[in-house]
Amino acid sequence: MITKPYENNKINLFKTSEEQKLMKDAIKKVESQFGKEYPIIIDGKEIYNAEKIKSTNPSKPSEVVGLVSKSNKDQANKAIEAAYKNFALWSKESQAKRSAILLRAAEIMRQRKMELSATMVVEIGKNWVEADADVAEAIDFLEYYAREGLRYSQETPLMKINGEDNHQFYIPLGVGVVIPPWNFPVAITTGMTSAALVTGNTVVLKPASDTPVLGYKIFEVFKESGLPDGVLNFVPGSGGEVGDTLVDHPLTRFISFTGSMETGMRIYERASKVNPGQKWLKRVVAEMGGKDYIIVDEDADLESAANGIVQGAFGFQGQKCSACSRAIIDAKVYDEMIELIKERTEKIKVVDTREFPIPEVHYYNMGPVSSNFSKEKIMSYIQIGKKEGRLITGGKTIDNNGGYFIQPTVFADIKPLSKLEQEEIFGPVLSIIKSESFEKSIEIANDTVYGLTGSVYTRDRKKLNLAVDELLTGNLYLNRGCTGALVGVHPFGGFNLSGTDSKAGGPDYLLLFLQAKVYSEKV
Ligand code: NAP
Repeated sequence: MITKPYENNKINLFKTSEEQKLMKDAIKKVESQFGKEYPIIIDGKEIYNAEKIKSTNPSKPSEVVGLVSKSNKDQANKAIEAAYKNFALWSKESQAKRSAILLRAAEIMRQRKMELSATMVVEIGKNWVEADADVAEAIDFLEYYAREGLRYSQETPLMKINGEDNHQFYIPLGVGVVIPPWNFPVAITTGMTSAALVTGNTVVLKPASDTPVLGYKIFEVFKESGLPDGVLNFVPGSGGEVGDTLVDHPLTRFISFTGSMETGMRIYERASKVNPGQKWLKRVVAEMGGKDYIIVDEDADLESAANGIVQGAFGFQGQKCSACSRAIIDAKVYDEMIELIKERTEKIKVVDTREFPIPEVHYYNMGPVSSNFSKEKIMSYIQIGKKEGRLITGGKTIDNNGGYFIQPTVFADIKPLSKLEQEEIFGPVLSIIKSESFEKSIEIANDTVYGLTGSVYTRDRKKLNLAVDELLTGNLYLNRGCTGALVGVHPFGGFNLSGTDSKAGGPDYLLLFLQAKVYSEKV
């Protein structure tokens, strides 16, 4: 059935006027659907509630991208029950059919790529290239997990012994609750959902409340791909309101979560309780925050390091779990690096991402942050930064149509163990930390509760080897930036309180949604 080997979907850089026109047209089309209502879907049935999640454009919050019905606790319970009922059939479906549905979903996403990207531009403020990369990653997940599903459906080779015939194979777990974040609203939502489905589990998907329209569109893609009713159920709603109900339900078998450390820890704790009527220990796959870094050694290629730092810090407004929020710089090149970083940062334009010009080679143009809540939180960190360090550039909000715009902000002289050095800000704020030696830089990089991504720039092979040995980082990059993991190339997941190190997009990932069954026959 699958004839072509897996390869990464190409990212559109919108270099030609034809490609730019296609995107402009797609944005116009999405704008023409502003204010549309979207339902909850349980067991294939559309439900419209009076209470809605109002999804607005962070570049211009007076624009309503969509009104999505908000589920209540009762509907959350019904969605779990529907998923449980449909598990009996879906878990017995052939792997060939389950993988084929993912491949069809990939094909539909290829056809709808401009529309999905345009929706992302207005629903969460990604620039064109970043939005396209997000959909490309979703397609990659579908293509990759379709193939991985087939691989895991093969029997596992075991040792042979005389007098017995032994076999091991994998079966699905049951009902999974999938809870994604808003920052990769197509890629992460599709990746988490498709991994659970392709392995034969049924799913209740609760999209992030800042991107529920994109959540609905992903549901639609799976439906159009031939997924039977009730195998995927869609319950938009506030995590605070329906999250506990979904996590606590005795029929929930596993929770696949990506989001902040605080929410992840809450889910992990609640899921550990065996509730009345529950027959299993729930499995939690939790990918959480980061306080990612780039180390710059005295003999590094400084121009290249500055490019990596600025792209990593300000790509998608610093709202990537892999964003570079700490630049740990050797004292001998510290002042020079600050100048290189400042020069690049000040070239960044902050705009409504609909107007987005194509990013230049070594810096990114930025849009708004995700919400007013995020803006306030980031600005409070900027106030702390003014006390803890020296403001190099930025530090202010930008008034434009009421959008949530913040200048790209750089602080120098931030001390290890200070708030700015320790806490995830999740916005366009870079902290620069001076280090007296390469060994000290490693110590600083390792000094937070997180361990997601990091990068080291040096020309010294011994130091690169030391970095590989000593840095407690799930995804470590050498002489390149710390963002941009590719499915199948850079399996992604963090250590410590960055999560369960699930390595999404890698060969171990689907195992998290399966359990091994062994049978042994006397012969
Ligand atoms: P968040 O506030 O933790 O929300 C994530 C998801 O959890 C949302 O769908 C949210 O719903 C839901 N939620 C909130 N409270 C809940 C509860 N009590 N029970 C169950 N679900 C609940 O995180 P975010 O702001 O969306 O995303 C940003 C965070 O994600 C950052 O920390 C970032 O580093 C992390 N992240 C990590 C990775 C990774 O691979 N490690 C990738 C991307 C992002 P509502 O939207 O309704 O609140």
